[in-house]
Amino acid sequence: MTSHSQKPIAIVVHGGAGDIPEERRDPAEAGCRAAAAVGWDLLAGGASALDAVEAAVRAMEDDEAFNAGRGSVLNAAGEVEMDAGVMDGATRLPGAVTLIRHFRHPITLARLVMTRTPHHILGGEGAEAFAREMGCQPVPNDFFITERRLAQYRKRLQTETADTVGAVALDAAGNVAAANSTGGVNFKLPGRVGDSPLPGAGFFADNRFGAVATTGQGEHILRSGLSFLIMRLLAQGLSAQEAAVRARHSFLDWVPAGRAGWIVLDASGGVGIFHTTRNISYAWRTSGVDACVSGLEAQDA
Ligand code: ASP
Repeated sequence: MTSHSQKPIAIVVHGGAGDIPEERRDPAEAGCRAAAAVGWDLLAGGASALDAVEAAVRAMEDDEAFNAGRGSVLNAAGEVEMDAGVMDGATRLPGAVTLIRHFRHPITLARLVMTRTPHHILGGEGAEAFAREMGCQPVPNDFFITERRLAQYRKRLQTETADTVGAVALDAAGNVAAANSTGGVNFKLPGRVGDSPLPGAGFFADNRFGAVATTGQGEHILRSGLSFLIMRLLAQGLSAQEAAVRARHSFLDWVPAGRAGWIVLDASGGVGIFHTTRNISYAWRTSGVDACVSGLEAQDA
């Protein structure tokens, strides 16, 4: 007898919220689809939500279209400093790294902080020393710098960026996870840390309710505790989409004209996406939907 009681699985990835120029839209959507497919294949093969979000984010860290890993934006000193964070909805333990300058996959370092240290966040030189201790190979900071980002730097571009990456997933065992990785914002002061590696701001995961990852202007997100705010709405029994839409009011109440986007999964695999920016790029797949759904939405901010 075949069982039809298979538990739902789901993955949602984002490729950043902001003002995404016309010529960047296809690469962003394609990169989101590819990353969602990586995560989906793992989940369909029985892998954990944590494995799925890490692999999806690693794929995007390797994709120069995104502001994470190689292709990250430059800070005011012309260097790349990256942040990443991950959270396990089963244990509700987060792990994060900030100001990473020499390691290709900050998301993997974040997961190592979660699993191999008693801490939740390691930053800068300490984080890099830990990475070496874990056997990760450093690369020169130049490795992360692409022509496109150099051109933006030379123009002293300080506008918001829109290519940070993140993922949320639900696995067949009912576990959720959330992850984020970023180079931050263009021309930031060296040492600046945004929301992306901060649990409760950039991401949150709790098996009872779901998982959230946010993107956009980090200062807006972190002072509104955006991920936790959305998690509270899920905890009140709202579906992912209801929580995603409802969060807009509270977010804009805290930060008038706040600019952010968010992806949400509820504990039963429902998907929610919302943004107060012009665009957000995303892709998702859930049980019962045969193909990956992707998009790059525009709406009045
Ligand atoms: N939230 C990121 C930061 O402020 C940037 C982004 O999501 O595009 O560091």
